Amino acid sequence: MLNIVLFGPPGAGKGTQSEKLIEKYNLTHLSTGDLFRKHLGEGTDLGKLARKYMDEGRLVPDEVVIGMVEDKIKETKSGNGFIFDGFPRTVAQASALDKVLEDLSLKISGMIALDVPEDILKERIRERGKTSGRVDDQDESKIETRIKVYLDETLPVAGYYKGQGKLTKIHGVGTIDEIFDNIAKVVDQY
Ligand code: ADP
Repeated sequence: MLNIVLFGPPGAGKGTQSEKLIEKYNLTHLSTGDLFRKHLGEGTDLGKLARKYMDEGRLVPDEVVIGMVEDKIKETKSGNGFIFDGFPRTVAQASALDKVLEDLSLKISGMIALDVPEDILKERIRERGKTSGRVDDQDESKIETRIKVYLDETLPVAGYYKGQGKLTKIHGVGTIDEIFDNIAKVVDQY
């Protein structure tokens, strides 16, 4: 099985590249941001709780995220594997994920980290904000918060996988297909 962590700051292109990976390798997409937005749309208790954090660009508490991901992994019939998009976002989430997978005799194949300069990220998020309808894409201070949270809390997750010898960095600027080809070369080595 292929279990890939697709990593990078907000606006790095994780969602876009995930779609292409899912198609090529027949993987199950597990995007915590998408799952939260689904709950939000359905007005569930989990959605209401998550909204407070998401709208401000802050992280939803670990135990909430981990519980949701664990349920999703366990309810998914074994396929070719998972692509984790926007998760894990803290070191606590990363080690919880390792435990959940270990209990199922699974493991992470590798992390692919998309590298994109900050000015390009901000530009992409502002552009996306024009059509995404996402509150967190439309306000300069919320964009700043998300990037700061990424640097403070999420970047250490790359170190976690580096320590396991599983980190590969990919330059995240170029055409979607160029970037995807570079990702696919890495995945083909797993
Ligand atoms: P982006 O890729 O632009 O950061 P996402 O859709 O991945 O957007 O996430 C949107 C918001 O959902 C985050 O800012 C955060 O509030 C919440 N969220 C998503 N995934 C997680 C997670 N793994 N841990 C905590 N909060 C999360």
